[in-house]
Amino acid sequence: MRALSWDLHTVNFNVLLARKITTTFGSAFASSFLLTSNWFDELLQHFQLVKPFVKIGWPKTAAGAWCTSYRFRHMSGTHILPCIFGCQQCDDRLDHYVECPVLWSFVANYFGAEEDTSLHSRLCLVSPSDLKLRRLALAHYIYGQVSSDPDCLHFLNSHIASPGLHNTWREIHGIALGSSRAGYHLMW
Ligand SMILES: [Zn+2]
Repeated sequence: MRALSWDLHTVNFNVLLARKITTTFGSAFASSFLLTSNWFDELLQHFQLVKPFVKIGWPKTAAGAWCTSYRFRHMSGTHILPCIFGCQQCDDRLDHYVECPVLWSFVANYFGAEEDTSLHSRLCLVSPSDLKLRRLALAHYIYGQVSSDPDCLHFLNSHIASPGLHNTWREIHGIALGSSRAGYHLMW
């Protein structure tokens, strides 16, 4: 939420962010980049070009605050779902969704192909832009809408109970398509 404050300037923000990203995406990723000294100021400039609905996608991703079943795996009664968009051998985890080709294909339907699909770029850790903030916000929105849709949960549970017997992914992709259409118009 610090990034939502326009007048916030702290020399330690890069350090704090690196620590949080280590928690969210692991030490190997966190050690794979070095933020420039003016990175945060540059990010804030682009934050000023987007509405609050778009801004919120960035801190929620950097902080690992997507409501995945993996995040809540320690709560009783919670089991880890597969990727809700149908990627095989992938779990319902944020570190998958920041790379999930199906989820980001829905984003690309509206914003076009990305020049750089790395997590560094998608998180605006390099070359931040208002376009990247909008892409991330739309991915976050689509995930939130689909994962909380009762029909999606029904299709997922049917798939888990009887894999291959249902049109699970076609149905869920239809929900995602509708969500991406609605979400895109909220980005402006
Ligand atoms: Zn996936």
